[in-house]
Amino acid sequence: MDPASVAARVAEVRERVERARERAGRSGEVTLVAVTKTHPADAVRAVLAAGVAHVGENRVQELEEKVGEVGRDAVGWHLIGHLQRNKAGKALPLFDLIHSLDSLRLAQALSAEAVKRGIPARALVQVNASGEESKGGFEPAELVDALGKIAELPGMRVEGLMTMAPFTDDQSVIRAAFRRTRELLDDAARQLPGIGRQLSMGMSNDFEIAVEEGSTLVRVGSVLFGERG
Ligand SMILES: *Cc1c(COP(=O)(O)O)cnc(C)c1O
Repeated sequence: MDPASVAARVAEVRERVERARERAGRSGEVTLVAVTKTHPADAVRAVLAAGVAHVGENRVQELEEKVGEVGRDAVGWHLIGHLQRNKAGKALPLFDLIHSLDSLRLAQALSAEAVKRGIPARALVQVNASGEESKGGFEPAELVDALGKIAELPGMRVEGLMTMAPFTDDQSVIRAAFRRTRELLDDAARQLPGIGRQLSMGMSNDFEIAVEEGSTLVRVGSVLFGERG
């Protein structure tokens, strides 16, 4: 993990985000979440040194290890992978924001832990905007109803939506999924004024499209650290 090359890649990604924002005529902020899964704690230290304040992990065990090594308050910790309900209590104190809230039962478990521990459960609700069966998250048709129920749970703070692009090289299909997610959030926010307006969309291969379509949080790993082994 060479800190200088990581810093150069961070600068490059920031530049590409900026250009995508300009193309779309967007003014809002885009937060870079460096996905450090499978990489050692030094990857977190390298992006921190490059000025990145947010990192993403997809497994609770690995999140716990890195938090132990780097420090809970050193950086904003994002849980971006599926969380099992029985790990809600272990996970909650470790993350600042979970992007992958994908069921009402998980929301209920996180809410109970949030109340018990006196800390908020900040979450993005995952939506399956592409309709791919392998993808997690709520179906668009059930989203508003689910968001309403989740937002009512004590201790829960719904800050927006997250989606994963469909598995395809067709950029127009990817763009359509991101656009649909933004429209779903716009619709939901009109009906549920309490929910936030964050949109977690875009990974290494598609973050520029995501930014053009309104992403406020891009989750990028391999473009910063190289392909995972
Ligand atoms: C691994 C992962 C990423 C980062 O993927 P890259 O292609 O390496 O940028 C983003 N989001 C989620 C949910 C992931 O699991």
